[in-house]
Amino acid sequence: MDACGVCRACDRIARGMHVDVLSLEPDDRASIKIDVVRGVLARTAFRPFEGRRRVVVVRDADTLEVQAQNALLKSLEEPPPGTVFVSTTAVPGLLLPTVRSRCMRLRFGRLSERDIQAILTRDHGLSARDARTAAAMADGSAGQALALGDADLATLRETALLLLRQTASQASASARLTAAGLLTTTPSRKERSRDDIALMLRVVASMLRDVELLNAGGDPGTLANPALADEMGSLKRAFAGSRAPEAFSAVDRAIMALDRNAGAKAVGEWLAMQM
Ligand SMILES: [Zn+2]
Repeated sequence: MDACGVCRACDRIARGMHVDVLSLEPDDRASIKIDVVRGVLARTAFRPFEGRRRVVVVRDADTLEVQAQNALLKSLEEPPPGTVFVSTTAVPGLLLPTVRSRCMRLRFGRLSERDIQAILTRDHGLSARDARTAAAMADGSAGQALALGDADLATLRETALLLLRQTASQASASARLTAAGLLTTTPSRKERSRDDIALMLRVVASMLRDVELLNAGGDPGTLANPALADEMGSLKRAFAGSRAPEAFSAVDRAIMALDRNAGAKAVGEWLAMQM
């Protein structure tokens, strides 16, 4: 089920001109304020004008100010007849628990790496090579890919590689905890932000994928980190058998735990033990 994308209604929705599709978006200070929310809610008091339903789209709902979220609660619990609320966010953990509990959670489908590459090169001017690297790490999200494109990939890679080497060779618990420290604190002993940690984990995941690809005899031309082909090759033996896929899935779980607001230090230590 998808919109046709060509009829008059679709066209007006795409241009933001449809009277029954209301949109709440972050302002230039990246927040959605209570007044704006109240304005839109007032318009939901009437029945839809044209369609059978009215849709209120809250874009980047995590930017709703707390009062704005509270103003939405009643409508989320008991939407006005004919009105559907759709809130989108990449970080649901930032929404009030009272808001989350009133929403049904849907995960949007992931884009293919090819689609993400196309978006990055066509709309954001990345080189084909950078786009491929970012797309391979982005877990199907163009937004993640862009964040990776902006980040200092060289430093992220260096640290991620160090982390993999430490866990590859060291079996002792204390060595693994040291490795976990690489993830959560910078060399100058500053705590990394959750976003930075999640980004780093994506880089680690992309490396584990590369190692597994090499172990499975795949084409080295399709590595996500082609510049690190030698380093990836040197990790092959340590991550042979089921270790790479298992570590990959542990990284995935760690990213999800961070997304749900789990403590960064605890997540890092758990992961270092799993890998
Ligand atoms: Zn249509």
